Amino acid sequence: MLSPYRRHTKACGRKKRTDFKHCPCPIWVQGMVGTRKVRQALNLTAWTAAQKLIREWEAVGAVTGESVTVADAVAEFLADCEARKLKPGTMRRLRLLLEKHLVGWAGDNRIRFIAEFRLTDVREFRASWNGAAITAAKKLERLRGFFRFCVQSKWMTENPAADVKPPKIDAAPTLPFEEEEWQRTLAALDTYPDNKWRARLAKLFKLAKVEGGHPHRFRDTFAVGLLRAGVPLESVSILLGHSSVRVTEKHYSPWVKSRQAKLEEQVMGTWPDACRLRCEA
Ligand SMILES: [Zn+2]
Repeated sequence: MLSPYRRHTKACGRKKRTDFKHCPCPIWVQGMVGTRKVRQALNLTAWTAAQKLIREWEAVGAVTGESVTVADAVAEFLADCEARKLKPGTMRRLRLLLEKHLVGWAGDNRIRFIAEFRLTDVREFRASWNGAAITAAKKLERLRGFFRFCVQSKWMTENPAADVKPPKIDAAPTLPFEEEEWQRTLAALDTYPDNKWRARLAKLFKLAKVEGGHPHRFRDTFAVGLLRAGVPLESVSILLGHSSVRVTEKHYSPWVKSRQAKLEEQVMGTWPDACRLRCEA
């Protein structure tokens, strides 16, 4: 006959060994298995898992080491995470990955005990995930943490997830807006149906400490950017949807002028001698 009991930690503060239901302190067992006297830690904190293991020992008539089922290991790990007060979002993700996916997958693949998990199993489990590479990398990290816990609890000898490679994460490709896409976007500001966007933009400008941050300045920034980059006035005019080049010239005359000066400077830089001769003449 075996009886389990809890060894309460200082942090727990409970004293009675039979007060076992509501804390995560280590469960120990004492009594007889077959002809052997036993008094040892079960490396379990969940009461039902402990009872199940004890029943198994009694049925077999021996202390068996590798008897923690996948479901019990997961329950133990999650209880420990709860005790560590992990954030609700983290707990939710752990439950989904372990309680739902891992336990289900192990059942489908006839893996009953946690110690049966091999590297190849973890690889196959990983292959069953769909979703982005970045998500898979995070899942693998959680899975490693779970198996690490299992090794530390002595339910298995090595971490089967330790050498599983994370999926390769492709960096987002550089994809700037085409000039015309950008221009169409800016033009769409005028017909944008939500009448709150002006207020939102004003908030944004205020946060950025941009005075006089009127949405039209996007359009001006676009046009001046093009002119400064040396895009011909005719092209800028077409991109802005002006009826003629003259309209563009009128609107952006200071920048057209500064552009002209810059262009002349560049020309002079190309033939410095000729320019000096002309200036001296
Ligand atoms: Zn306790």
